[in-house]
Amino acid sequence: MITKKPYVISEIIKETPDVNIFRYTAQDGSTLSFDPGMFIMLYYKNPQTGEEIGRAFSIASRPDDKYLEFAISMIHGRFTSKLDYAKVGDLYYVSGPHGQFKYTATENKKVLFVAGGTGVAPFLSMLRMIEEKKYDTDVKLIYSTRHPDEIIRKGELDGYQSTLNFKYVVTVTRQETDADRAWQGEKGHIDAAMIQKYVSDPTERTCYVCGPLKFTKAIEAALISLGVDKKNIKADVWGE
Ligand SMILES: Cc1cc2nc3c(=O)[nH]c(=O)nc-3n(C[C@H](O)[C@H](O)[C@H](O)COP(=O)(O)OP(=O)(O)OC[C@H]3O[C@@H](n4cnc5c(N)ncnc54)[C@H](O)[C@@H]3O)c2cc1C
Repeated sequence: MITKKPYVISEIIKETPDVNIFRYTAQDGSTLSFDPGMFIMLYYKNPQTGEEIGRAFSIASRPDDKYLEFAISMIHGRFTSKLDYAKVGDLYYVSGPHGQFKYTATENKKVLFVAGGTGVAPFLSMLRMIEEKKYDTDVKLIYSTRHPDEIIRKGELDGYQSTLNFKYVVTVTRQETDADRAWQGEKGHIDAAMIQKYVSDPTERTCYVCGPLKFTKAIEAALISLGVDKKNIKADVWGE
């Protein structure tokens, strides 16, 4: 039997055109014990029919935060269409935490994070904990988004470049809008050559990859072609 605890929405932030940040607080005021990188199952229960629907979401907040934060792509699917109408105070249910996609500071002193879209969420949790605990972890992040205005928590990531042992690069994969074409940074999908350009020592790092299946498969293949041992690659796959 799965234990589900009631949580209420405490904040909704429109982060990018397609991504909202949701914060949920446990109704009894408790906090959840988890390692950065883990996910929970979030359930919506229809008050009229009692029908329940649940989806997995990676936790973007830190273990010590009073709330659980999620960065959610508003794709208007079965679950996310409920969130289209969500408001502060709405009741949801949470089970977990789940998953083996974990960052532990003592074991992972040099890391490479590779994120596709909202796949940056678990890395926010990891970076937030690294900052809070003042770990000197050497972190590189390669982050792929479709458009420049889809970078989640850009200001926060920029700030970590001066406060942490952290460097990141964003690659924009689409060339559709004027803003895409004006983008001065990296363009196109992440491949072995792009990884090598920004990370000279991938074989010395624990590599964490998060995004859809096609993305994680391509990145794993690229890392292996660069000599990274499979056991040093951790992937969190979000569906097809
Ligand atoms: C471990 C884990 C962690 C996850 N963490 C997050 C997270 O932090 N943030 C987050 O946004 N999602 C996350 N997901 C995905 C999430 O669980 C749901 O699958 C997602 O929110 C879509 O659910 P839905 O019911 O709205 O769509 P569904 O009704 O289930 O799907 C609708 C359709 O949209 C397609 N689709 C799915 N994703 C996308 C997309 N991104 N863009 C366009 N089409 C898509 C599906 O293939 C499907 O055909 C995670 C998944 C896993 C397994």
